[in-house]
Amino acid sequence: MPKEKTHIKFNLLIGMPLGILIVSCVYLLFYKSIPNINIIAIFTLALLFNTFILNPDLDMANYHKLRSLKGFILLPFFPYSLIFKHRGISHSIFFGSITRIVYLIILVFVGYEIVFFYQQESWPSISQMRSHIDIIFSLSYNPIKENIANILLVIVTLWYGDLLHILLDHKRKSLMLSF
Ligand SMILES: [Zn+2]
Repeated sequence: MPKEKTHIKFNLLIGMPLGILIVSCVYLLFYKSIPNINIIAIFTLALLFNTFILNPDLDMANYHKLRSLKGFILLPFFPYSLIFKHRGISHSIFFGSITRIVYLIILVFVGYEIVFFYQQESWPSISQMRSHIDIIFSLSYNPIKENIANILLVIVTLWYGDLLHILLDHKRKSLMLSF
């Protein structure tokens, strides 16, 4: 299994430029123009988030020391690493990405409701929970039609990052990478 640094180098030096090229080609093909800076920014941030946090090796989050910065950042993901054993479903090309996206949504939602509880000193009602989901997905500011392209871009980028990770886990020798 490649070290974390190898994954980071691979994603930043190969995955990032390749991904920007793919996004640009898709835009040229469908919109006859180059993607605007927002699209590139969303892709870049989503891939960085995948590279450093939300990747298949999240199934080892509990291996990091709590006192380290990485361990502290990954603390909310400890339960994930207890649920999914290393190189199990987390390293599955489709299901792995789904488990992490669902986990992240639940995590953000639970975190939001805990903050709400401390501010209001009562748990939210069902209708309040619904409005919180709208806020989390920014649907209060933009209707879903306008947001769906950005949400899809984030999901596809996270999946792309997972694909790079799994590819490197399995094909390192045949790719003959010398990092
Ligand atoms: Zn891995």
